[in-house]
This record gives sequence, structure tokens and C-alpha cells, in this order.
Amino acid sequence: KPPPEAEDLPPRLLGLIGQGVESIETPALVVDADALGRNIRRMADFATRHHMRLRPHAKMHKSVEIARLQMQAGAVGICVQKVSEAEVMAAGGLNDIFISNEIIAAPKLLRVAALAYQMQQRGGRLAIAVDSHEGIEMLAHAMRMTNASIDVFLEIDVGQGRCGAPAGPEAARLALEIERGAAQLRFAGLHAYHGGAQHLRTPDERRMAISHAAEAVGKVCSLLSAAGIEVPLVTGAGTGTFSLEAASGAWHELQPGSYLFMDASYARNHQDNTQPRFEHALFVKSQVISVSADRVVVDAGHKSHAIDSGLPLVHSLPGQASLTYADAGDEHGILRLALGGLLPLLGATAWLIPGHCDPTVNLHDFMISVRGGLQEGRVESIIRVDGRGAVQ
Ligand code: PLP
Ligand code: MN
Repeated sequence: KPPPEAEDLPPRLLGLIGQGVESIETPALVVDADALGRNIRRMADFATRHHMRLRPHAKMHKSVEIARLQMQAGAVGICVQKVSEAEVMAAGGLNDIFISNEIIAAPKLLRVAALAYQMQQRGGRLAIAVDSHEGIEMLAHAMRMTNASIDVFLEIDVGQGRCGAPAGPEAARLALEIERGAAQLRFAGLHAYHGGAQHLRTPDERRMAISHAAEAVGKVCSLLSAAGIEVPLVTGAGTGTFSLEAASGAWHELQPGSYLFMDASYARNHQDNTQPRFEHALFVKSQVISVSADRVVVDAGHKSHAIDSGLPLVHSLPGQASLTYADAGDEHGILRLALGGLLPLLGATAWLIPGHCDPTVNLHDFMISVRGGLQEGRVESIIRVDGRGAVQ
């Protein structure tokens, strides 16, 4: 029986619930619910074992339902990247949200203030990142329109060279400014995320990058401690490095996102045994629509999956030949035999593992959740991509 929120789903999708995977029209974004559940549990268990708080990044799935599953498994809250994502998640009942990004626009900051007020009224909590004096002033100005308060993390650059104050005296000055400034801004700690380290391919490269990041965190904490300020919490880390942040002792909270679905790009990271393995749980179901002697063509091009981090892998089910995917435009992909064997037949299904999960999800309104595997499974539910297009 579909959940109550499902009632306004298009009938075409509602009718799928309970049907076998073969009924899913292509191209479609499909979630392997069993693999997803195992991934959620593995990360939650890791966090528990290492005494880390887990605040998964919801920019990846943009789905209230999945965020709730993460909360049920023990997450302390979620991260989002945009104000509009925070609004979508809060409307879906999520009560502890961190906007892990800088927001520099007065109208958006008014929405942040309104959301902080709303969430506080119902016992929830909103947090945001800043990395500049102006950002702190603009946030304080917006917050004065309400009597609510907001948790403010100072973002420091720990090696990615993206956002974040340089990890030195300037960071300490900004942290002091938050701590001693407007009463409505509570200094919540440091946001220290090294995006550039996540896809370094070898464990040694990742270890080196996070060891430098930990030094940067340590340096800012010492400067603040010398100024009489304790850092309440350090948050950061992604799917590529979270075990390193956990082992360093410098972080208290982990923000991984992609572990939930995994993608072809993460599959290219070499692993050692220092972190749990995650399974591919996100697929584009595609269909062979044309066959030639040396290739077949499927109906999924880069309008179905994002190719910014490389092309999809073709997931071969037991007994099937291994295939490679070549880009053939926005609506087509070309599959060829990798080693030998037989090409799929006209009309056959091909399961693609997207190159990059986050922007792939943002291309779809719904994810079709399948229980029981990609061969024999049945559609269990339709997961709405609530935050699709919420990029402001
Ligand atoms: N935290 C922040 C600030 C991010 O920007 C991201 C992703 O880009 C993540 C966490 C999660 O990273 P991943 O999806 O690689 O686990
Ligand atoms: Mn990503």
C-alpha cells in the first residue's frame, strides 16, 4: 500500500508499485533498496564504532524520505548546500539542518532567518557556514528581523582551495567575531571539508591530504584556544576520506553523501581496509533500441545521467557479458563488448551505474525503489526527488 504522500504521484508511477522490474519504463532512475539499506547501516555503524556524529549530506539525494531513513539509522541531522534545499527538507519534517555553504544575498538570508525561526519554534535547529566578515554581518542583519538564533560554523580552507578562510590568524579573527558579535549568532565550531581529497585515487594520497587538513584544523583550534575560545565542534569529511577524519581525532562530525548510492567515479578510488565498502545502489535502467554487428545503442544519454565525473559503468548481471559505455549524445549511449561474449539483444535491459550520483539525481523527478534485486525484484516505492532543481 503506497504511503499517504504517494497519493499525488502520477498514476503511471503509482501503478508500478508491486510490479516486477521489467515494468519500469526506460530510461529511469532506479534505487536498489536492499543495497541502499546496507549502505545506510554500514555508515551508521562506522560512526557509532568511532564515536563520531553522522550528519549525511542530503544534496546528493535531495529526498525527504531518504533523509528520514538516515535519521532513523542514527544521523544527528543532515547537511544541505542551498537555502531552497533547507526549506524543502524542513518542510518534510527534518529538524536539524546545516547549510554547509556560504550564502551572500540579503533576500536569501531573510529566508534563512525565517527558517531558523520556524525550526526553533518547533524545537529544531538551523546552522549555516560563513567565511567572511561581510557574510557574518549580512547574516546578523537578517537574523535581527526575528528573535531566533542560528548556529554558525566558520568554514576554513583545509586544502581544497574553494570556500573557507585561510587556516591561520584570519580564521581565528572571524571565529572571534562570531563568538563575540551578535547574540543571535552562536559560534558552533569549524566546517572543515576537503572536497579535493575525496577522489584522490590512492589511499596514500588521501591520507596525506587529510593529514594536512587535520593540521590546519589543529592550528585554528590552538589559535582560538589561545584567545580563550573553545571550538565546540569540527564537522567535515566525505565518502572518500571519512575514515581518515575519524582516525585523526580532529573532527567530531562526518558529512558523507555519496556512500548512500556510490557512483562510477567513487568506484575508481582504490581502497584499503580502513573503511567499510559501499555498494552501488543507484542505477539508470536503459533499453537497447538499436543493434549493429559491433555495438548496441541504449536509450540513456546524458539527459539521464551526469557525465561530469566520467561515463557510466555498465552493471552486468550474472551470466551477462561485460560491456563498456560510450557517450552518444543526450539521448543515446553505445555499448560494446569489453572482452568477448554476446551483445545484448534488441529490447534488452542495460543497467548503468552513473558516473556522478549527485547531478544524476537532480536530472530526475522520481527514483523508483526496487526490493529483491535488479533481476527478480519488485518496485517497492517511488521516492520523490523533493529538492530537484532547488539550487538557489
Ligand atoms: N560536505 C560538503 C561540504 C560537500 O560539498 C560534499 C560533497 O561535495 C560532501 C560533504 C559529501 O561528499 P561525498 O558525496 O563525496 O560523500
Ligand atoms: Mn558529488
